[in-house]
Amino acid sequence: MTDNEIWKRIREKLRSEFGEATFNSWLKNIELEKIDGDTVSLTLPTRFLRDWVSNNYATRIRQLWCAADSAIRNIEIRVKPLDRKNSASQKPTIGFAETGSPFIGGATPIITEVANPDPSLMSSLDPRLTFDNFVVGKSNELAHAAARRVTEAKDSIPFNPLYLYGGVGLGKTHLMHAIGHAIATNSPQKKVLYLSAEKFMYRFIRALRYKDTMNFKEQFRSVDVLMIDDVQFIAGKDSTQEEFFHTFNALVDQNHQIIISGDRSPTDLEGMEERMRSRLGWGLVADIHPTDYELRLGILQSKVEQGNIDIEPRILEFLAHRITSNVRELEGALNRVLAYSELVGRAVTLESTQEVLRDLLRANDRRITIEEIQKKVAEHFNIRMSDMHSARRARAVARPRQVAMYLAKQLTSRSLPEIGRKFGGRDHTTVMHALRKIDQLREQDVALSEDIELLRRMLE
Ligand code: ADP
Ligand code: MG
Repeated sequence: MTDNEIWKRIREKLRSEFGEATFNSWLKNIELEKIDGDTVSLTLPTRFLRDWVSNNYATRIRQLWCAADSAIRNIEIRVKPLDRKNSASQKPTIGFAETGSPFIGGATPIITEVANPDPSLMSSLDPRLTFDNFVVGKSNELAHAAARRVTEAKDSIPFNPLYLYGGVGLGKTHLMHAIGHAIATNSPQKKVLYLSAEKFMYRFIRALRYKDTMNFKEQFRSVDVLMIDDVQFIAGKDSTQEEFFHTFNALVDQNHQIIISGDRSPTDLEGMEERMRSRLGWGLVADIHPTDYELRLGILQSKVEQGNIDIEPRILEFLAHRITSNVRELEGALNRVLAYSELVGRAVTLESTQEVLRDLLRANDRRITIEEIQKKVAEHFNIRMSDMHSARRARAVARPRQVAMYLAKQLTSRSLPEIGRKFGGRDHTTVMHALRKIDQLREQDVALSEDIELLRRMLE
């Protein structure tokens, strides 16, 4: 496949994944400029588009590209203004360029926004992000329960605002969309508005620009439920903060529900005025903690069930163990593995998973060494460390050795030959045999299975 063909396919994939509207607004104008070594250079006509696409879609584009061509490691997105002669119709709609504002040029999304001043909720809610699709675990149960509670309130408001916070990719946006869907179902008469703090700011700036702030205030103050995502974005943006503060107070006074998300607790929001920080903490503050293994596995299982995907459970276990950073990355890893298998027409294996995700695994690596594994396993089964390398084949030492190889495969990024070498220079087929054997035994032997689980926890 040529680079252009790959790009064409990826475009189609993006179109079907994100939908026609999103594609036309943001992704349509991306052009493939060149491929240089392991870096793909894409261009967009404005800085605004470039920033937006970089923040929201670059990861996915990169994943698709890596899946199609394993030589690719990076995606670079640059600004390349449209050729004016060929695009007379694409006049800039808003000319803020000199002031350094992100509103530059004739980008489609700005035209649509101007033409569509009524912020409608449903258009911006992602149908996949529902309570049904949200997997609850220890780390997110408070946030989840609070979100549910908000949607069940009939006349009284349980807490105002609900402030959800946690690291990136842990489900804040998912919960907010889920709240939106649930309210739309339970109380269809309620006017709900969801938007990112970034959009709030752009709308506000635009209102200022068009001397339309009355209308702006009106729109925001007439909603029953206002959700603002990623509020940390307006920290340090004083006039937007000021406006937000007034909107906030007006809604609280009318007893309308506000739900806010942020990447840190209200008290830790630097660049946010003290009065704003204290207001944000008035209601219920619920934090989402990093995921644990069980939750990660649960999320993967639920994705696989929803998509009716056929994949071995041990691949899911592997991913849940190894991709620990956040849920977005975990989902991305699963998608990448599946995309690869679809592309080459072969079932997913542990080997192919490790190959496709090599860069990601390295980044998530907690650098457990094979030596550590050998040491822990030897201690646990009460054999000598030297038996990990020895040629002795008595079951009392051979079995623990196989367990150690099995854990080495699961917990490190080492290849089979590399693992073999660390076990007294054994052949990779011996390692493969050990992996199969342990897989088999785990199904019959509960005690062994528990031993392995225990060892794994200790090592992690
Ligand atoms: P945040 O807004 O906190 O950065 P998102 O809500 O965008 O994170 O979540 C990132 C991705 O992970 C989304 O695709 C979301 O559906 C998924 N996700 C996060 N938490 C869960 C969960 N508990 N169950 C199912 N999917 C989840
Ligand atoms: Mg988010």
